[in-house]
Amino acid sequence: MTAEIINGKEIAAKKREEIAKEVSKLKENGVTPGLAVILVGNNHASRTYVTNKQKACQELGMHSLLIELPEEVSEEELLAKIDELNHDAEIHGILVQLPIPKHIDEKKVIESISPSKDVDGFHPVNIGRMMTGQNAFLPCTPYGIMVMLEETGISVAGKHVVVVGRSNIVGKPVGQLMLNQHATVTYCHSRTKDLKFHTKQADILVAAVGIANFIKAEHVKEGAVVIDVGINRNEEGKLCGDVDFAEVSEIAGFITPVPKGVGPMTITMLMYNTLKSAEESINR
Ligand code: NDP
Repeated sequence: MTAEIINGKEIAAKKREEIAKEVSKLKENGVTPGLAVILVGNNHASRTYVTNKQKACQELGMHSLLIELPEEVSEEELLAKIDELNHDAEIHGILVQLPIPKHIDEKKVIESISPSKDVDGFHPVNIGRMMTGQNAFLPCTPYGIMVMLEETGISVAGKHVVVVGRSNIVGKPVGQLMLNQHATVTYCHSRTKDLKFHTKQADILVAAVGIANFIKAEHVKEGAVVIDVGINRNEEGKLCGDVDFAEVSEIAGFITPVPKGVGPMTITMLMYNTLKSAEESINR
């Protein structure tokens, strides 16, 4: 293997220490950052994510509130709950764990969260602010990727970044954050013709596809930085990314593993956003 591993777990641990220090300072001033997580229904994966978020809050000394609603909860009831949390002074961040049941309009739910408590960074107001380079809550996974690069000393300015995937929560915003930092950005997706032609040109390649081991060595330029966002299970049920690690690590310059790569950064940036919201609440 030639690539240097970007250890997300270590970077996340360092960031969490910094966050914990800021949390104790805030608490000395009488403010405890509080995150409310709403879980609708009983999706197994969602429950695991929610438990991990609560655990992170507790470890960092933050207040965490879990609101569990039944699968058949009405849209109206869910919106009423969010409205209540929007007005709760002890809550600085509100997160509705996705996916939510089909009978509820996801867009409406996201837009009902106050942009000042939207620590997931999914509200159109925060997305617009991010696009125009204003103060915003940045979506956690893309933000985590930027922090990983910064902590590894990889500069983005002037680089050609190729993002495979254009979802609203990962692909699109990660490209935008790269552009904000002066990268030249190419987006690829399922309709892209000759994917390899594009990915081969990447100085920094971000894979956010959701297909196990999709990116092969033939897609990667020698020495490139490869960021693997994917969380998939392979045929043996083992956790793996969108990048064929064994192959690609032979030619990449830097690579993020799965697990211990982008994953730990996501919750860390959620914690950071909650802290930021609590700090900003003091001046509101
Ligand atoms: P989505 O399914 O929403 O998006 C996948 C994207 O990949 C789409 O834009 C799709 O294109 C594109 N795509 C699919 N097939 C191909 C193909 N053959 N060639 C090129 N592009 C293709 O996924 P997410 O963005 O939500 O997540 C991506 C991965 O990241 C998943 O594995 C997910 O589990 C993981 N993830 C990890 C997180 C973490 O914390 N590490 C957080 C969030 C997600 P099109 O738009 O044309 O359909």
